[in-house]
Amino acid sequence: MSKRIGVVGAGTMGNGIAQVAARAGYHVVMRDVKEEYLQRGLATIERNLARDVEKGRLSADEKSAIIGRIETTTEWEALADADFVIEAVSEDVAIKTEVFRVLDRTTRPEVILASNTSSISITKLGAVTRRPDKVIGMHFMNPVPVMKLVEIVRGLATSDETCAQTRALAEEFGKTPLECGDSPGFVSNRVLMPMINEAIFALQEGVATREAIDGIMKLGMNHPMGPLTLADLIGLDVCLAILNVLYQEMGDPKYRPCPLLKRYVDAGWLGRKTGRGFYEY
Ligand code: NAD
Repeated sequence: MSKRIGVVGAGTMGNGIAQVAARAGYHVVMRDVKEEYLQRGLATIERNLARDVEKGRLSADEKSAIIGRIETTTEWEALADADFVIEAVSEDVAIKTEVFRVLDRTTRPEVILASNTSSISITKLGAVTRRPDKVIGMHFMNPVPVMKLVEIVRGLATSDETCAQTRALAEEFGKTPLECGDSPGFVSNRVLMPMINEAIFALQEGVATREAIDGIMKLGMNHPMGPLTLADLIGLDVCLAILNVLYQEMGDPKYRPCPLLKRYVDAGWLGRKTGRGFYEY
């Protein structure tokens, strides 16, 4: 069993993945580019676990033990003895391919390199390494500690063994793995993002208020939250990046990102993480 999990990126997803891995008993090494980002990620984990202690789902001792299993670093070398690595850096193909090149050089050759990408081709990430058979998509949902699904994405070269080990790890984390092929947006975002985009078009065109759009989808479709609220939770920059990938890779105008989404990202209104998106936080 893999004992030491490397997590690259301490943002929304990275810190959530670090939390579930540490909670499942693994030692975690979380890497980001700045100390400040690591501290922010750790603070989020602390807050989440403190809530669990308050609600009686975790003891204070267990909380300390979980935090104690998370090491933070800005150095790549700290991942040299990782047994399994999960990448959760910004959704940018240039950044991710560079991270995979570095991971291929710094980790042991038998180590599986998983990406939490929402839309970038796993085959493409695998191709920049000397171990494309050990590169796989491990697509967690937001918020990671709460959501059960891990979409397991097989690149063209991903081996059955890599797939089996990754599914087993997802189960150890208390998640349910479901497999799909390496197609743009996989299944989750191929279906979700056009809905979010359409909700933004409806807002842009003044078809309804943000509250009405979200309310209609919540009450009418039994969704736990409306599409604009969900976009704010995901991050509007992340939504835009995924739509751009779908649009470019499929070459189909039905995936074109709504101009209003682009304007919000230009403004730095990225949703919850910046305090403002379609709503104010
Ligand atoms: P985020 O912006 O919150 O965090 C990204 C982090 O990566 C930042 O802290 C950034 O400093 C760090 N980073 C950038 N380059 C790095 C490098 N070279 N080494 C280490 N760290 C680096 O983004 P996020 O929402 O956590 O998204 C991360 C990944 O997860 C993306 O691929 C995204 O598509 C995917 N994802 C996001 C969601 C979501 O709802 N936000 C859901 C599923 C998957």
